[in-house]
Order: sequence, then structure tokens, then C-alpha cells
Amino acid sequence: MRVLFGDGTIAQLGEEAARLGMRRPLVLSTPEQQTQAQEILTLLGDASSGGFFGATMHTPVAVTEQAMAVVAERRSDGLIAFGGGSTTGLSKAIALRTDLPQIAIPTTYAGSEMTPILGETRDGEKHTLRSEKVLPETTIYDVAYTIGLPPAMSATSGLNAMAHAIEALYARDRNPIISLMAETAIGSLVHALPAILARPDDRAARTEALYGAWLCGITLGAVEMGLHHKLCHTLGGSFDLPHAPTHSVVLPYALAYNTAAAPEAVAVLRRVFGQDDVAVALHEFGRRIGAPSSLSSLGLRESDLDRAADLATARPYPNPRVLDRTSIRALLDDAYHGRAPG
Ligand code: NAD
Repeated sequence: MRVLFGDGTIAQLGEEAARLGMRRPLVLSTPEQQTQAQEILTLLGDASSGGFFGATMHTPVAVTEQAMAVVAERRSDGLIAFGGGSTTGLSKAIALRTDLPQIAIPTTYAGSEMTPILGETRDGEKHTLRSEKVLPETTIYDVAYTIGLPPAMSATSGLNAMAHAIEALYARDRNPIISLMAETAIGSLVHALPAILARPDDRAARTEALYGAWLCGITLGAVEMGLHHKLCHTLGGSFDLPHAPTHSVVLPYALAYNTAAAPEAVAVLRRVFGQDDVAVALHEFGRRIGAPSSLSSLGLRESDLDRAADLATARPYPNPRVLDRTSIRALLDDAYHGRAPG
């Protein structure tokens, strides 16, 4: 995987596309980012097959099929994903089916561009798969495209990134290098996010946050995720809750659930936060940067909690603490009401 990181790195896009043999790449974005995606098309000049601006949250298969029809009709020979995890997800879903080369230009801190993971939603359930086919060949991290990420989204997206690194710290298959990256990543985001909230155009803070998000993405791709990611996938895929805000709410509760079973991770987080109760520290940090703190505020209904607990415990997956439905239901109840974790 090739990475170009810095401020103004977009200038290398044409060269990078040519290096990957793309003469007619399709530029992907959400409808909300269409105007910026047009700028990417302008940069490419004649060397593109236009754009598809229909990317949407949780990568529904129906949208992928629409985009596949465009790829075939325009004989696109590559994919340029401009945006957050939703756009990268669409690009990955097309790459899975076509093996076309991909360039990712991330504009959030989600980290999908660093992983061989694709989550697709079919019939109201989100399914995750791993395939080298979906890993973008090149990622262009250009700090300039993150400056406009609104403060509220910067906070939730930054916490989404931190969730990858936190779960990497207690992953069953963790290793010292990934743990080192995770600690640096969390530290970078804890330092950068409050500065971004104070001054969204602080380029040094934006650079540090994007660096942290890059590292977080690597940890997500490298080791197994646990309870936190499972809960968020369930809440996103089956209840259509927004991805990054859901991560922001759930993370302190998942961490509280695992604290006693994950002493190494807790030691790292105590160093980063300088506080003994790391779940509470994280909860307070989220509030300090203006992130939402309850599932009710994201539109979940209280009557959905039972089904969410069923879905999240239906199939076994690795997690430091044994998963039991009663405790997960209680965790969801706390997260629903936004009570202090633990
Ligand atoms: P998103 O891509 O859904 O973006 C949210 C909204 O913010 C969209 O409207 C988008 O256009 C807009 N936006 C993005 N960047 C912006 C910017 N700089 N300025 C203004 N608006 C901007 O959100 P996300 O949180 O980045 O991604 C969520 C999706 O990514 C979920 O479907 C999730 O499952 C997936 N994801 C996958 C992986 C993986 O490894 N497979 C990792 C992380 C996230």
C-alpha cells in the first residue's frame, strides 16, 4: 500500500493515477461532497470517466449495483474515492467485484482506506468481509481536505478512529508494534481534537489528527476488533444509526465493560489520559469535545435495545471479557440513557 501524506499532496493525484495505469478512473463521492469531487475531476482533466456521487452510509448493496452499472457503461479503469468511510466503502465494494485499482482521498478520520475490510448492508444487516482486493492501492492524505470537516464531525470521527486503536490494544492477536502505533495514535487524537474544536483551521492540529487517524486505520486493519465494533456495526447496520456518532457514544461503555479483563490496554490509556478510570476519562473527553453521549440522542428507540442485544450476542467473536446477553443489555441501557460508564 502506498501513502502520500501532507498538506497539498493532491497535486500528485494525476501522476499517481497514471502510475496505477488509470486513464479513465471514476471519481466517487457522497451527494454532499459532489462540489469538492468536481474539483478532483477538474484536476484530472480528460483523464477520467466522470463521477458517481451516490455513495451513502453503510454501503448498501443496491447503491453498489447502481455504481457498477456506471463503471460498465463508462468503461472506467480505476476508482478514486473522495470522502469519508462511506465513499471508501463504495469504492471497496466495486473493487471487490471488479478488481479495479483504487486511490483513496480520505476527508474524515474513519480509517477505512488502511484496511482490507468491507462492511456491506444487505436486507437490513451489515456483513463484514476481509479481502486484499478491497485495500486501496494508494491513499492520498491531504490535510487540506480535512480543514472543512465541521468541528462536531471532527470530534465524532476522531473518536471513531480512537475506537480502532483502543480495541487494538486489547485484541487477542495484538502485537507490540500495533500497540505502539495504537498508543501514539490515541495520544495524537487526544492532543489534536480539542485544538481543532478551538480552531478548526489549525493546520498543525489537523495534521496531527490525520496522522493519528492513519495509525488508527492501520491498527483496525491489522488485528481483530471486539465488542465495541460489534455493537456499532449492529446499531449502524440494523438500526441505521450514524456511524461516527454511534462510535462516540458506545466507546466508553465498551471500554468499561472490558476494563477488568484488559489490564495492558488500561495501563496504556492511563498513561494517555493521566486518569485512573479510563472509561470515565474517555466519557469526559467526549463531552469536552462536544460529542453526543447517549444512544437516545441519535434516534434509537428504547424498544430496540432488546433486539440490539440479541443481534450483538447472536454469534461469538473475540473479546477480552466473556460476552453475556444480560450484561450487554445493561451496557446498551446505560449508553441509551448516557449514564456514567462502569
Ligand atoms: P461518511 O463517509 O458517511 O461521511 C459522513 C458525511 O460527512 C457525508 O455526508 C460526507 O459526505 C460528509 N463529509 C465527509 N468528509 C467531509 C468533510 N471533510 N467536510 C464536510 N463533510 C464531509 O462518514 P465516516 O464516518 O467517514 O464513514 C462511515 C462509514 O465508513 C460507515 O459505513 C463505516 O462502516 C465505514 N467504515 C469502514 C471501515 C472499514 O475498514 N471497512 C472503517 C471505518 C469506517
